[in-house]
Amino acid sequence: MVAGNWKMNTTVAEGVALAAAVLERCSAETAVDVVVLPPFVHLQPVHEVLAGSRVRLGAQDVFWEDAGAYTGEVSAAMLADLCDLVLVGHSERRHLLGETDVETGRKLAAAVRHGLVAIVAVGETESEHDAGDTLAVVDRQLDAVLAAQSTALTPDGWVIAYEPVWAIGTGRTATPEQAQEVCAHIRVHVERRLGAAPRVLYGGSVSAANAAELFACPDIDGGLVGGASLKPDVFATIVAAAGTR
Ligand code: PEP
Repeated sequence: MVAGNWKMNTTVAEGVALAAAVLERCSAETAVDVVVLPPFVHLQPVHEVLAGSRVRLGAQDVFWEDAGAYTGEVSAAMLADLCDLVLVGHSERRHLLGETDVETGRKLAAAVRHGLVAIVAVGETESEHDAGDTLAVVDRQLDAVLAAQSTALTPDGWVIAYEPVWAIGTGRTATPEQAQEVCAHIRVHVERRLGAAPRVLYGGSVSAANAAELFACPDIDGGLVGGASLKPDVFATIVAAAGTR
């Protein structure tokens, strides 16, 4: 899987054009699940652009309640007609907007309840990395998310994205060895808890230059791509790198 997180970028018209460009460049890639994650207001028109294609649509966030007095929020019930997937627990939501592990777990539960595949992002900050706490941090984040689940999570019902915070948008990618070690640890940790693990992606400054060596790692099942997903040619090169895995 290669998922493009557009973050808070592009106008609706630009987003529609970007989706059309991704569709044109990536639809022949049958071995890779290609996903775009535009801003909320783009979802309806991008849904129309992608209808009937192999490129899948997801949202960048979701609220955990289905409806009610939650001004500004969007529920999984609302997204379910438009999207296949939703991203939860992105580090920008955790660190800029104060989202907690428990809230991320509630978002995953809401997504699963409505048949959306949740991409759950986990990862350590630079200081946690420097202190040697990476594995403890991802374990804590995953355990909190799993504790919030009332129904069984199947491997196809969610995806984990390991995204070291120090690598997001910085141009500083984890080495393939670092990313492989953490993704392998995540897989074993979740297998111990649930019996089976979902796909595990790496995210953090994935580019056309480093995608192939990251995706060649045995426990990296693809990528969550931020900045590079706004450039359709670069995104298509990253998707192609996943296809040769
Ligand atoms: C992201 O937004 O999830 C991300 C990984 O961003 P970037 O690829 O720009 O580091």
